[in-house]
Amino acid sequence: MNNLTPMMKQYMSLKYKYKDSILFFRLGDFYEMFFDDALIASKELEITLTKRDCGMEKKAPMCGVPHHVADTYIARLVEKGYKVAICEQVEDPALAKGIVKRDVIKVVTPGTITDSNVLDEKTNNYLVSVYMDKFGCGISYADNSTGEIYTTEFLGGEFESFNFIINELGKISPSEIICNEGFSKNKKYINIIKNKINPYFTVYKDICDKQTICEKGIIDLFQVPSLKDLNIDDKLYSILSLNKLIDYLYDTEKTSLDHINNLVYYNSKDYMVMDINTRTNLEIHETIMSKERKGALVHVIDKTSTSMGGRLLKTWLDQPLVDIYEIDKRLDMVEYFYDNIIFADQVNEQLKKIYDIERLSSKISNGNCNGRDLISLKNSISVLPNIKSLLDTTNNQELTKIGNNIDPLSDIFSLIDIAIEENPPISIKEGRLIKKGYNKELDEIRIASIEGKEWLASLEAKERESTGIKNLKVGYNKVAGYFFEVTKANTSLVPNYFIRKQTLTNSERYYTDELKSMESKILGAEERALELEYEIFQVIRNNVKKEIKRIQYTGKLISIIDVLLSFSKVALQNNYIRPILNNNGYIRIKEGRHPVVERSIENDLFVPNDTYLDQDDSMIQIITGPNMAGKSTYMRQVAIITLLAQVGSFVPAKHAEIGIVDRIFTRIGASDNLYQGESTFMVEMNEVANIIRDATSNSLIILDEVGRGTSTYDGLSIAWAVVEHIATNIRAKTLFATHYHELTQLTDKYKQIKNMTITAKEDGDDIVFLRKIVEGSTNKSYGIQVARLAGINNKIINRAHEILSIIEGSHEININKEAMTDSTQLSLSDYKKDNFINKIINIDIDRLTPIDSLTILNNLIQDAIDLKEN
Ligand code: ADP
Repeated sequence: MNNLTPMMKQYMSLKYKYKDSILFFRLGDFYEMFFDDALIASKELEITLTKRDCGMEKKAPMCGVPHHVADTYIARLVEKGYKVAICEQVEDPALAKGIVKRDVIKVVTPGTITDSNVLDEKTNNYLVSVYMDKFGCGISYADNSTGEIYTTEFLGGEFESFNFIINELGKISPSEIICNEGFSKNKKYINIIKNKINPYFTVYKDICDKQTICEKGIIDLFQVPSLKDLNIDDKLYSILSLNKLIDYLYDTEKTSLDHINNLVYYNSKDYMVMDINTRTNLEIHETIMSKERKGALVHVIDKTSTSMGGRLLKTWLDQPLVDIYEIDKRLDMVEYFYDNIIFADQVNEQLKKIYDIERLSSKISNGNCNGRDLISLKNSISVLPNIKSLLDTTNNQELTKIGNNIDPLSDIFSLIDIAIEENPPISIKEGRLIKKGYNKELDEIRIASIEGKEWLASLEAKERESTGIKNLKVGYNKVAGYFFEVTKANTSLVPNYFIRKQTLTNSERYYTDELKSMESKILGAEERALELEYEIFQVIRNNVKKEIKRIQYTGKLISIIDVLLSFSKVALQNNYIRPILNNNGYIRIKEGRHPVVERSIENDLFVPNDTYLDQDDSMIQIITGPNMAGKSTYMRQVAIITLLAQVGSFVPAKHAEIGIVDRIFTRIGASDNLYQGESTFMVEMNEVANIIRDATSNSLIILDEVGRGTSTYDGLSIAWAVVEHIATNIRAKTLFATHYHELTQLTDKYKQIKNMTITAKEDGDDIVFLRKIVEGSTNKSYGIQVARLAGINNKIINRAHEILSIIEGSHEININKEAMTDSTQLSLSDYKKDNFINKIINIDIDRLTPIDSLTILNNLIQDAIDLKEN
């Protein structure tokens, strides 16, 4: 270490502070990386790896990128999941005594990046802070690119807290998580999060558990007298997580967080809860298999015109409401747009002209905005009066209210309009930013500079004349400054007051005292003009920054209008209707459709289906039917229609009455999912356990093939027991698709269960799907026919038919009381009758659970086999 060069010592001390980041160390016009950072960066960025002598035994690996293109490289590293610490020279090298001072001026991380080249314009980029201990947990999260910030907490044991955390994380879908040490030590939890969300993780020390220390940072950021003003004074876990979130943002941004100014405390009970599996299974944002937006619900539903609207729509889809009054307010507005197409078109035309005001605000706040950003802001503001007056004409109270609340921001418009050029350059240091007439001093300097140039032109003419050199030119470059250029052929005509400056191949360059004295004046004026333009720009930017809250507020209102309008567009284009919401616990859908599947089926051949579910006689549907018949589609469509209705959207149906549900659960077949770490059956059982634990009578449960990941008897028994439990204890509306045809016997015992089947017709060896759901059941899965359709060869198909008929002939499971005795007798013809009856009469059959029944059956068979062998 002692032998290290001074520069390397400086590097090492900074690297020590930013161990978990790749350090971009500014050296001249480059950012250099050393040691492991260089090895990683050269590989990830495909740049050349070199070596540098640092005073150590071996040369250090090194690679670098030019500073003016560093943003792209930083973005690429962050996209790949690294943090990048940017180290700059923080003093003027000319004034430095010894080695020039350097420091990290910003750390770019996956959850804090604001680069629009990396961020998806219609997706929030959240950084989440989790704090959890034995008694509860807090979650706070912010989007640094838009300024949104939220917090919530949960009080309860570790298991419940984690459950809360994973559900929230599923909703938030963060790209980065920071969490306390205590939480991070639970590897099982962390692995689940990594598997399901795959964020970048940073752990913080559990030091901050004194509320007073934590409060200060929060109060300072939001500039409120006390936490009471933020509604979190009694929310210790929120405070703990929020404090760390703010610290981390300061530590990485190292600048003001003025754009993060509106804390929202929310209670998860205000929204419908969906666990992470449900969100995945309903393919809300991306498809399960290919992880693409195309084929997901949002792809069909999102017709927003602004990025802000696109992001809000996603947020709404992630947190459907449970309050009918609030939902109806949204639906009323959607209906207004739906009924007034011309008006809706006019509003839409205006929305299209609005840029991403939220992200512009953040750029303005963190000092990253340029002239073009201000012009985009100005152009966006210019349409606000039109939108206001359009909304003013409606007779929908809520729309008028939003219209009234839109701030026309005319002061900001005027400021930018009088000051900033219409087409400024990207850089804010090259001038051409500030309009003529805005600043007197700037105008004067500019005149001086223009006059200087005119003077140069006249000097050129004068010297041509006096020397007789016709092609004499005044030239300029950064190194040499101003000069007269004379071609070699004419140098003999050069007068002696011309002083030689430079010799080129074909010409000579000269200056004169007169040219030199003017040069400093012209160059001085140009330099000063650039400086002044930059200063003026900073002042304007700071003045706009002071109004950031107003800009953000209006941005939010615009996004609300955009989403509601988008719902009406989708409703018109795809033929949706307004749902009627109720608190009476029933769902009645006439001719419901799956919004995504219907779009993928050509010629409008999607077959609509009716649904009726309540908390009474129509609580549970056991759905049987062939493979590929449409069971999953039907069940998911009920869930999605319910979700859309509670979001405030119209729905794909002819008629829909939707009883508000507090949670939607979906569990889909283990074989359809790819998980790591745990057996698929274990995952499946975990999910079922969660459903059983958390579902209430107001929930909607979708179970697709529960119990498939184990032996038939195990699986059937579990499925049976689960349905019974739901029917008698939870009493939630449930759709249960199964190939265990035995489950259809449950209707004999429970009036709240109905058997439904999706129709199919056998046509010779083929099968024709009719896709209609009707009451009844089928005991055929037509798996072999489907296998044939899929191309499995005839030899195997024929053999499968043979095997099936053997199995079906010998294995009948009948779980009803009398039938059980019969079927047991049937399969136990060799069994000693008296022994058998003894066993049977000792059992209180009425109290048998399905699992008991099957265990007994199993034992009896074993007895029979033993007997026979003896
Ligand atoms: P299952 O769950 O019964 O195996 P799916 O619900 O996965 O069947 O449906 C299989 C395919 O059938 C879907 O991908 C879709 O193409 C088509 N399908 C499903 N439901 C319908 C419907 N109501 N109308 C038309 N086609 C449908």
